[in-house]
Amino acid sequence: MEFRVLAETFDRLERTSARLELMDILASLLARADASNVDKIIYLLQGRVAAPYTGIELGIGEKLAIQAIARAFGVNADEVERLYKELGDLGSVAERLAGNKKQMTLFSQPLTVERVYDNFYRIATASGSGSQELKLRLLIDLLNDAEPLEARYIVRIPLGKLRLGVGDATILEALAIARTGSREFKERLERAYNLCSDLGYVAKVLYEKGPEAIQNFKIVVGIPIRPALAQRAQSAEEIVSRLGTCAAEAKYDGFRCQIHKKGDKVWIFSRRLENMTNMFPEIIEGTLKQFDAEEAIFEGEAIAYNEETGEFYPFQMTIQRKRKYGIKEAAEEYPLKLFAFDLIYADGVDYTPKPYKERRAELEKRIKKGDVLDLSEKVIVSTAEDLEKFFESCVERGLEGIVAKDLNAPYIAGARKWAWIKLKRSYRGELSDTLDVVIVGYYKGRGKRSQFGLGGILVAVYDKDEDTFRTIAKVGSGFTEEQLVEMKKILDEIAVPHRPARVVSFLEPDVWVEPKYVITVTADEITRSPNHTAGWDGKRGYALRFPRIVGWIRSDKAPEDATTVQEVVEMYKQQRTVITGDENA
Ligand code: ATP
Repeated sequence: MEFRVLAETFDRLERTSARLELMDILASLLARADASNVDKIIYLLQGRVAAPYTGIELGIGEKLAIQAIARAFGVNADEVERLYKELGDLGSVAERLAGNKKQMTLFSQPLTVERVYDNFYRIATASGSGSQELKLRLLIDLLNDAEPLEARYIVRIPLGKLRLGVGDATILEALAIARTGSREFKERLERAYNLCSDLGYVAKVLYEKGPEAIQNFKIVVGIPIRPALAQRAQSAEEIVSRLGTCAAEAKYDGFRCQIHKKGDKVWIFSRRLENMTNMFPEIIEGTLKQFDAEEAIFEGEAIAYNEETGEFYPFQMTIQRKRKYGIKEAAEEYPLKLFAFDLIYADGVDYTPKPYKERRAELEKRIKKGDVLDLSEKVIVSTAEDLEKFFESCVERGLEGIVAKDLNAPYIAGARKWAWIKLKRSYRGELSDTLDVVIVGYYKGRGKRSQFGLGGILVAVYDKDEDTFRTIAKVGSGFTEEQLVEMKKILDEIAVPHRPARVVSFLEPDVWVEPKYVITVTADEITRSPNHTAGWDGKRGYALRFPRIVGWIRSDKAPEDATTVQEVVEMYKQQRTVITGDENA
């Protein structure tokens, strides 16, 4: 496929504010793709060259881009910088210069998607001495043959400035439409995606082997599964009335790990499925020593603890272990324990369709005693009183609460279902949880705050059914002055000229931003409001009363991992039950 087709599609996607149009544009692009390029097209749409779990990240610095542009178009770097100041975006600079050049040289070889992808892949994987020069050459090679519009994207993609706002769910739907003519096949594609976390690969299988191969999709050790998530409850009674006799496990406030083992090779994936293998050497060692299987996939919560006192450190300490340098020292200072809580695969058997009780029994058999791996603490309860007692004992010991589990439920990859229900200590009598919301814009701030350039943010929750972000609050409280300044800086990097197509909003902030960052907020209560679009029923949506930020941007969550509209509705109902005792109030 000619890269021109992709560049024109990007341009149209960038212009649209309508989600339906976004879907049409995508579906018609994917209808033109074939088995040899569909994966590449999908990665490029997301500004990548491989699935996130591979750790292959495409990225170059501005300096390198400036040099490449200067050399490709025969101008000096100062001129590029001047134009950058004028136009505000290096992609547009390349577009402008390619336009000038066009009039001088009339012949060049048209770029194909394959060639652009190939060069980007080599840029992403270049390492060691000479890699900067190699990256520069690869970029210049593309720019030399680029039409103006193509040049815009050849520069924006590796700079991470594509900002098309195309989410995974939208791509899955567009694929279903492009290949089968209807949305219905999306569910099957989603299941396959949940088992391999690789959109490009799912598309390739569909185009190469057809829908049947998607139906028979299998788990592979070394490729992460999208994690099962928990619903929330307000009380032990609610849990027991939903699940009856169930398991209750301690909820550790640490770092979720999905561990894969094949012989003496171990992979560790985060909740967002980033490859974290190198950051946790003691977990690798613990798995090799203590997990009894040739091949396995299991999950657990890693948490830093004080070896002297045996006490767990708070989440903030554990998260410090998620860094790239000084790993050995950090492992000594804050060693981790891993509390295993689920088994996904072992020695040829896919455990995901099996009931929890069977998975847990097998997990218990396979973990040998040792220093690092342990089983999550678990009791079986039949009454609300017993569940309450276990909850209290967990909270007393400084744990976050409990996760109750349906004894008969399968492992449901990539979904938040009632098979797991969390009850946290902060829930009681207040809003049943904090919310993780997506920042979609900001207000410049008046009066005292005008000096910071940011007075508040417009935030949204995720609508899973339509893959959009719907606003729920304007948040101006809870920021320190430094945070206001920092937030403005971060958001200016991802500012966009108009409302992104996947954002549904009645309000118009001063600056729109790409829905990218998730932040945790709390509020006094959830109310109904005509101003916000979350859960909109034609008259009212849901809003937060007295919202304020707690904590900072959650690097462990993608925008699609934010609290969903469906969860907000559930939290609203729970809140009504507590206040009035009537779920239908
Ligand atoms: P939270 O902020 O409550 O952790 P989350 O969105 O990160 O929310 P949830 O699905 O809401 O994730 O809660 C489940 C999380 O709790 C899991 O992702 C896991 O990291 C953690 N966890 C701790 N202990 C357990 C356990 N015993 N069983 C399952 N999950 C557990």
